[in-house]
Amino acid sequence: MGRTLPRRTFLAGALATGAAATAASTLGARAAGAATASAEVVVVGAGLAGLTAARELTARGRSVLVLEARDRVGGRVLNHPIGGGHVAEAGGEFIGPTQDRIAALADAVGVGTFDAYDTGKNVYRNGLIHLRYSDTGVLGTAPTDPLLLADIVKLSQQIDLLAAKVPVDAPWTAPNAAHYDAQTLETWARANSVNGEGIVGLLAPFTQALVGAEPRDVSMLFVLAYVAAAGNASNRGTFERLINVRGGAQQSRFVGGSQLVAQRVAAALGDRVRLNAPVRSIDQTGTDVVVRSDALSVTARAAIVAVPPALAARIDFAPLLPTARDQLMQRAAMGALMKVEAVYPTAFWRGAGLTGQFLTVGGPVGYSFDNSPPSGTPGVLAGFVGGDQYRTWSAKAPAERRAGVLAQYARLFGDDAFLHPSGYFDMDWPAEQWSRGGPTAILGPGTLTEFGPALRAPSGRVHWAGTESAEYWTGYMDGAVRSGERAAREVDGAL
Ligand SMILES: Cc1cc2nc3c(=O)[nH]c(=O)nc-3n(C[C@H](O)[C@H](O)[C@H](O)COP(=O)(O)OP(=O)(O)OC[C@H]3O[C@@H](n4cnc5c(N)ncnc54)[C@H](O)[C@@H]3O)c2cc1C
Repeated sequence: MGRTLPRRTFLAGALATGAAATAASTLGARAAGAATASAEVVVVGAGLAGLTAARELTARGRSVLVLEARDRVGGRVLNHPIGGGHVAEAGGEFIGPTQDRIAALADAVGVGTFDAYDTGKNVYRNGLIHLRYSDTGVLGTAPTDPLLLADIVKLSQQIDLLAAKVPVDAPWTAPNAAHYDAQTLETWARANSVNGEGIVGLLAPFTQALVGAEPRDVSMLFVLAYVAAAGNASNRGTFERLINVRGGAQQSRFVGGSQLVAQRVAAALGDRVRLNAPVRSIDQTGTDVVVRSDALSVTARAAIVAVPPALAARIDFAPLLPTARDQLMQRAAMGALMKVEAVYPTAFWRGAGLTGQFLTVGGPVGYSFDNSPPSGTPGVLAGFVGGDQYRTWSAKAPAERRAGVLAQYARLFGDDAFLHPSGYFDMDWPAEQWSRGGPTAILGPGTLTEFGPALRAPSGRVHWAGTESAEYWTGYMDGAVRSGERAAREVDGAL
């Protein structure tokens, strides 16, 4: 529904506060008194998507202002200092093959990568089955559980075959889209496996870690679209690439932590990025778009909203957004995910032939991994607590949660040394005011087929970015970067 924007003269530098007239408005009481500014484009959110959009537009000679609610950039990527100049990521962290756009961005701002630690055996526990296995086998990170092996092989092949038919730019047009969007991952897995109960139990730690949800929460079409998106224009997405460390989305990490990429992009943008500027309203009742934040009210020719749909739904729009977009934002719930991290003087599990990865049915942590700097000093063991496990364990006192996590590490790896870290922290993403969950939005049955086209369609002068709007690697840092690039092209073409 994009429409041609009126040609108007704007301040070239974009930063001359107090200079721009404000359009006639029905909104803005909360931001009354905030300074004013104008730019050709105003970007809401300084996560990787918003920063990328601003970077691209600046490179094309457009004047841009970025309004960020938090007192920092990066959004869902956040470096946590662990002493000695080292950091451990509390949010998005890994990159892997076909994630070309985040790789190119990191390269452009001088942030290198290193291999995630993946030498030795992974640990798996499911009831009475407790085994160590190598991810160099054909199943990769998927466990070699003898009771579930046949179902694991069959279902992962089926998912790949079905995902291959899903167009990443319009999953709602896939063959039988309505059929798959009427099922959840759980109902589909039960209907297509021999040991339905067992396979749904095993899928839970995967969905908890991957999207902060239970297999019952996500539409099967959403799952197929997510798998289809785990690739690029030359390599179709696969389930294996999504879940694997070796050759998959967890293969590499950033030197200095993923937030460094966002920080470097923001530094180059300079004072085009305004922190502590939560956007409260977006008004396009006049000829311009007026975006009001607590810090600054910006008049622009177009806006790019680069926040998750659930956060965009908290902004007041005038006129109201098209109902399809509004209803989509009401349905795109954020996943429930906490990242817990124990710090030890060294990554001592490496000496015992362990990768640090475990996969287990039952919490608190469903999937753990080695999150240490390359040297293994200090050693960091991180874990995902998602979905039902998140709801159980986030409600407990921090000391009880920490004791539960450490006891689980000691039990699964068979070493009481895990009970005595030198440091410990956890990051509760649903409790973050400007994220409300993570790692991404999840879509339940009916959402993609009924509202999918609203994911990217501009609403007048408002354009949408954010990883949730990406075609490839939606939910990931790469998707965020791709969405920012796409929104920048879209706006540049429309101005
Ligand atoms: C625990 C966890 C683990 C993850 N692991 C990985 C991983 O290993 N690899 C990977 O690729 N991805 C991972 N991700 C996902 C990845 O971090 C995200 O996909 C990506 O960072 C999203 O970027 P974005 O710019 O789209 O959104 P965000 O990062 O959410 O950025 C949106 C920005 O908008 C701001 N904002 C919100 N509302 C407003 C408002 N009203 N006004 C102004 N500003 C506002 C927010 O503060 C934020 O800075 C993980 C995420 C989490 C939480």
